[in-house]
Amino acid sequence: MNNTLPTSALSAANIAGRLFNELPLSPGILATLQQLEYRTMTPIQAASLPIALAGHDLIAQAKTGSGKTAAFALTLLTHLNPRHFAVQAMVLCPTRELADQVTQELRRLARSADNIKILTLCGGSTMRPQMASLEHGAHIVVGTPGRIMDHLERDSLNLEALNTLVLDEADRMLDMGFYDDIAYVAKRCPMKRQTLLFSATYPDGIARLARQFLRNPQEVKLLEQHEENKIRQRFYEVTHETRLQTVGTLLKHYRPVSTLAFCNTRQQCRELLEVLQTQGIHALTLNGDLEQRERDQVLIQFANRSCSVLVATDVAARGLDIAQLEAVINVDVTPDPEIYIHRIGRTGRADKNGWALSLCTLAEMRRVVAITEMLGSEPEWHDLDTLQSNDESPLAPPMVTLQILGGRKEKIRPGDVLGALTGEAGFTREQVGKITVTDQSTYVAVARNIAREAVRKLSAGKVKGKTVKVRAL
Ligand code: ADP
Ligand code: MG
Repeated sequence: MNNTLPTSALSAANIAGRLFNELPLSPGILATLQQLEYRTMTPIQAASLPIALAGHDLIAQAKTGSGKTAAFALTLLTHLNPRHFAVQAMVLCPTRELADQVTQELRRLARSADNIKILTLCGGSTMRPQMASLEHGAHIVVGTPGRIMDHLERDSLNLEALNTLVLDEADRMLDMGFYDDIAYVAKRCPMKRQTLLFSATYPDGIARLARQFLRNPQEVKLLEQHEENKIRQRFYEVTHETRLQTVGTLLKHYRPVSTLAFCNTRQQCRELLEVLQTQGIHALTLNGDLEQRERDQVLIQFANRSCSVLVATDVAARGLDIAQLEAVINVDVTPDPEIYIHRIGRTGRADKNGWALSLCTLAEMRRVVAITEMLGSEPEWHDLDTLQSNDESPLAPPMVTLQILGGRKEKIRPGDVLGALTGEAGFTREQVGKITVTDQSTYVAVARNIAREAVRKLSAGKVKGKTVKVRAL
């Protein structure tokens, strides 16, 4: 995949710890960054922001979770004129989830400016309300290539005033076959514009995309470096027959609260899910067959700690921003060492330690050799016999997700739900976890031991003055 490194390949260590106030950012944005506790730039931000803020086209490559969103968000917000009611920036993303994440980050970073309107335009929602919102005017649109294309075809989206085009998760968009859609959209943007391309990996298609749609781009690429002591890697030898059962054994031994289990194929994902569920482990999977609402529910449950294991292929897990992951399990060894590094980099974030556990059959040993060469260190092999499963206390996630029918449409806000639970219902703040409001539903994580009572009390009481339907997922 990466035969040649661009000259600007950087090592994260050299540019860590720079402050945002070295950059030409507005006082409002600097204040917002301080409120958000973004104290220093992440390495990809430090490497790309000076180039992007100066107006150059850019190709930036860095692993998932390295802060790429803020790198382009700060650039496009800086170049935006809030008094001009026209679409000045557009971000293309591969999926609705990623578009939602980008929109959220943009909203957070834009909060010092008045009334910057940001619209998300993705499939899965009806066109008409999106068209109405566009008529009211927007400064920034974030969306998937297919839906943006639909709007362009119907003339409901005008790009004449566009000055910044962002291709986010470009590798994933190519994986999903969006090349032609991206090309359609890019050709309808003004020639005089800035184009920023962000990607976690650098497959061949990226160079083609860049040649066609970027002008003299500067490249920054961050070599992946994990702080070795934060991610503890262990390898276990298994047979084809014992592999899936062993995942359960690992979970019962290490007892991580949240684990991402990577399989090489969707078939393997399905089989593993079945095995884990028969072992009584709370596992869910992400795959292309799920409807959007089901996907949302899976991600919400995993992020709020009411699902222990998320089983996924590399494609399904790409780009998801999941904090607090105690373990990554490589159920299959990947043939691509770069993907191995990418997978294990999901754990051991911030100041936390993480486990990277890999199951390997004899037939896969050559893949481990390739990984070893890339890492430059010997793999640590451990014996399956050393694993102890503590069956007395089953592995249950700490939280349970309650679904309340009614969401943004009913103007429910997180505070309303927190208020209902800690007010009349009498629970403590500590017993309530993450609250996520979607268009139709609100999801709230509550401590497992109060789940039943919480359903009962919420159903009997009121949220925002109304009776609501509640169920545990
Ligand atoms: P990527 O797009 O590279 O996968 P994200 O942009 O989703 O990564 O960022 C990952 C997380 O890091 C987000 O939760 C974001 O809020 C946070 N983050 C980004 N920049 C900073 C920073 N400078 N300091 C602290 N946290 C940051
Ligand atoms: Mg991203």
